[in-house]
Amino acid sequence: MNAAPAPRPARTLPGLFLLCAGLLASLAAHAGRLPRSEPVPGGVFVSALAPAATPPRANYDGRRVLVIRGAGRWYALVGIPLRARPGKVVLTVHEPGRTRTVSFRIRPHRYPTQRITLKNKQMVTPSPKELRRIRRELARIHADLRHRRPSRRVDTAFRTPIEGILTSPFGARRILNGKPRQPHSGIDIAAPAGTPIRAPAGGEVLDTGDYYFNGKTVFIDHGRGLVTMYCHLSTIDVRRGQTIKTGQVIGKVGRTGRVTGPNLHWGVSLDGTLVNPLLFLPKPTVAALKQGARTQSPIP
Ligand SMILES: [Zn+2]
Repeated sequence: MNAAPAPRPARTLPGLFLLCAGLLASLAAHAGRLPRSEPVPGGVFVSALAPAATPPRANYDGRRVLVIRGAGRWYALVGIPLRARPGKVVLTVHEPGRTRTVSFRIRPHRYPTQRITLKNKQMVTPSPKELRRIRRELARIHADLRHRRPSRRVDTAFRTPIEGILTSPFGARRILNGKPRQPHSGIDIAAPAGTPIRAPAGGEVLDTGDYYFNGKTVFIDHGRGLVTMYCHLSTIDVRRGQTIKTGQVIGKVGRTGRVTGPNLHWGVSLDGTLVNPLLFLPKPTVAALKQGARTQSPIP
């Protein structure tokens, strides 16, 4: 007699729950794994590609770009050079069985100008002998930044390497002792000398060195064209070829090279293009760096 249908909520609620859980999981994967898309000079353009079993290949401006998997589909992460001119540009995507183009617009962006006074004048106008050393070092630094290692996994969910105060933003146009110099290709975080610097994500130590401008430096290869660099260290605590985990100490904050005080210069290179490291950090961490506050819980 009781022909009442099975109560609907019992059937639909778990379905709804699964849908919500799935949505949250995909949002979490997006937020945790990908940098923020900011198509400006020195920024990153994140392009969602088709879900496919095999990774598509993508090229921009004659370079192969990093393609990573997140939330069941592929994403191309395009590093835009600081010297790029605003306007429409094209990403070429080779998917299984077809080639297509994705156009996007590089938006104009105004970076601040920083005037810095250095007591050591040779750091502003080096001698011919020092210039020869600088050229040799630049060739090696550029080769390291363009390094591409095949890797199954590429972790782009970065932690900040140190907590401190952001003293010089990415892209700042710099005037040293009244002379215009190259724009800032990383960020500077000021912290007491000796503060441990931790790997923002796992990878392999690509190179270490002691350079004229950059001082003691470590390069981490995160795989497939994602390389990070750490400069002005007092000590280097890793060696070339060493595998490192997220949060592992790679060195200590110092004042080697061209500095006005102890700080970490942090650079992020995407397929040989130096881009804004802040795009790889969660927004609360960026806000904390701008205020010099603590937000990050230590890694045990
Ligand atoms: Zn710097």
